[in-house]
Amino acid sequence: MTTFDQWGISPELIRTLQHHGISTPTPVQEEAIPVLLAGEDAIVQAQTGTGKTLAFLLPIMDKLKADRPDPQALIITPTRELAIQITAEARKLAAAREGISILAAYGGQDVERQLRKLHNGTQLVIGTPGRLLDHLRRGSLTLGAVRMLVLDEADQMLHMGFLAEVEAIIHMVPKNRQTMLFSATMPDNVKRLARSYMDRPRDIRIAETSR
Ligand code: ADP
Ligand code: MG
Repeated sequence: MTTFDQWGISPELIRTLQHHGISTPTPVQEEAIPVLLAGEDAIVQAQTGTGKTLAFLLPIMDKLKADRPDPQALIITPTRELAIQITAEARKLAAAREGISILAAYGGQDVERQLRKLHNGTQLVIGTPGRLLDHLRRGSLTLGAVRMLVLDEADQMLHMGFLAEVEAIIHMVPKNRQTMLFSATMPDNVKRLARSYMDRPRDIRIAETSR
């Protein structure tokens, strides 16, 4: 049986997962995690509820450096609800990583509190396109140190009309980054987005039946 400890992920992270009752990778995690740990760009297609969040959070959490204050990873997701869910999962994993601070940037939050947090140093930023652009335009968030970028639920994001916002944000992330795109479906507009902003991405596609 496949386990999480075959890829060299830190034992503390794996123990934290087990503590939350997660011991066996789902099919999408099994395919995506080694590719993402290797630093490759990837387009990952798997249906809703198959565990795509951990597929990107685990490699990111494993790679974040606690001794650097500027955001190293950025996760863009279409809705406030998704941002809240991803942040909750990321915080669970962060229990295994001392000194890692996470900023969630979505509408309806106390902006002052968010700004203080950015000022005090944060390694991982999770947000919705509109609120991320707010911070970027104020200058309260800078992406110059980001080396891992996730476009989560890309089909929903484009369906909701966020293409221009997402592109504006991508343009602020250094080009020598790793880009990861996750989606339940691959319509043409998502393929175009992937082609425009990714570097020889690996295609990972989990068939609907293999849940
Ligand atoms: P998706 O983004 O593919 O729609 P999520 O990442 O939100 O799916 O995961 C759906 C649910 O499955 C979550 O509640 C998550 O905690 C759970 N989950 C993810 N990976 C595993 C795993 N390896 N074992 C058990 N449960 C898991
Ligand atoms: Mg998801």
